[in-house]
Amino acid sequence: MYPQQISHWIDDSEVASSNGDTFEKRCPMNDRVVSHVARGTAVDVSRAVAAAAAAAESWGRLPAPRRGEILGRAAALLRSSERAFGEIVQTETGKPWKNAVAEVGSSADLGVFMESEGSRFYGKTMTSPVPNRAVRTERAPIGVCAAIMPFNSPLAGVAWKVFPALLCGNAVVVKSHEQTPYTAVAFAKLLKEAGLPGGLCSVVQGLGPEVGTPLVEDPRIGLVSFTGSVPTGKGIQQKVSGRAVLAKVCLELGGKNPLVVCDDADLTLAAEHAVASAFIDAGQRCAAGSRIIVFDNVYESFRAAMLDRTRAVKVGSGPQDDCGPVISRASLDRLLRAVEGAIARGARLVTGGRAVESLAPGYYMEPTILENVAPDDELSQQEQFGPVTCLYRVGNFDEAVRLANSTAFGLTGAIHTVNTNRIEQFISRYRAGLVSINGPTYGAGPHMPFGGVKNSGNGFREPGTESLDVYCEWKTIVVNHDPARV
Ligand code: NAD
Repeated sequence: MYPQQISHWIDDSEVASSNGDTFEKRCPMNDRVVSHVARGTAVDVSRAVAAAAAAAESWGRLPAPRRGEILGRAAALLRSSERAFGEIVQTETGKPWKNAVAEVGSSADLGVFMESEGSRFYGKTMTSPVPNRAVRTERAPIGVCAAIMPFNSPLAGVAWKVFPALLCGNAVVVKSHEQTPYTAVAFAKLLKEAGLPGGLCSVVQGLGPEVGTPLVEDPRIGLVSFTGSVPTGKGIQQKVSGRAVLAKVCLELGGKNPLVVCDDADLTLAAEHAVASAFIDAGQRCAAGSRIIVFDNVYESFRAAMLDRTRAVKVGSGPQDDCGPVISRASLDRLLRAVEGAIARGARLVTGGRAVESLAPGYYMEPTILENVAPDDELSQQEQFGPVTCLYRVGNFDEAVRLANSTAFGLTGAIHTVNTNRIEQFISRYRAGLVSINGPTYGAGPHMPFGGVKNSGNGFREPGTESLDVYCEWKTIVVNHDPARV
């Protein structure tokens, strides 16, 4: 059952906001107010950070395999609570049931992966040119990490940050997204049940400027791990740069991901992947395929295949549905305006473009395809974060690569072709963190480092073993065995 009141979770207790304020959480499936959520303040943030700072040291001294065991227990609990967590994710996001449940499974998989990383918490040994000297590196905890959340995959989002942060010996203060406030609290309660000591995972609720800003400015925070939009990410980096003492900042930001369809591609398969890339999670994915770049000589056949496949997408949140609502009324209105604006500037609507009246007042939008959108149009350049994608026509491979690279983003991209030269050229010439061959633009797993270049991120990768580099410092240790003789 989704709680009607949602509090902060600080030092293993539910805590109201210091000034008693709340805000409403509405369910995207029906626009009903499902909860009143604590509207946090700087005082609440400070309390959570203090609890984390007090708990961090002894946790950081516990051997990594012991920390991993607790994460493994949490993963098992998560798997056995699949239905309860699926319901929370669905109430908050409106995702179709199969996607909500899949998120629980993938989050548990990450817990298992991180548990096993506890037994492989390796450093390096190095030779030294100086006699009687040994040099090695060790992973060291950072201390207190801030984890700032997007809304689109609330459970996977929390798991991606909290599991590795804890494994690395840190305490974490999670800032829930205001649209998905309860997932992180339920996750923190589950960690407690798995045996995590108090204070190590707190959750604060509230609005970005009121809660996020004091969190990133708190001098006790050693790492800010942020997933969200480019403007917020850049603002966070600036705020941290303004602190007296710097902190590490990990930014996982947006995408404007291309899927290239060459003239030798299997068009049915390409259409299937293009539709899944564009419309799963109602396009609210950093890895969504929002630019479908098609060779001129197969454009009409591909367009017909994609249109057919799009018409088969079931909009709704039930067990058989594919494309849920967008997160808020404001988001739906923004998307409808963006489509209208693009049409006014010369774009042609292939399909969609309207709210789904039969599912109102839920925030459902028809899967939407546009064509004839100029490459420099805002719809081609800016992430929309909704079920809206554009078709582009190109004459050849070089033009496709140029267009693929023509935005400020570089998160993911896909190419559909059987030509191995094109595959290898695309891998080397398309600038992004993830390249997919004959598949969708998305793809993630516990073992896979994910992240982007340009405005899609600042060089870090989560999860995989690479995420340990986000949540640890490397410490270099130099031991003189016989200092007197040197
Ligand atoms: P957003 O930037 O609006 O919000 C993200 C979080 O930042 C929220 O919790 C918000 O409250 C907080 N925030 C807002 N202002 C803040 C401030 N001044 N200081 C600190 N925190 C503040 O993003 P969103 O629209 O909620 O999420 C969608 C975005 O996330 C998209 O751009 C998407 O591409 C991106 N995303 C990226 C990845 C990835 O791995 N690269 C994954 C999922 C989502």
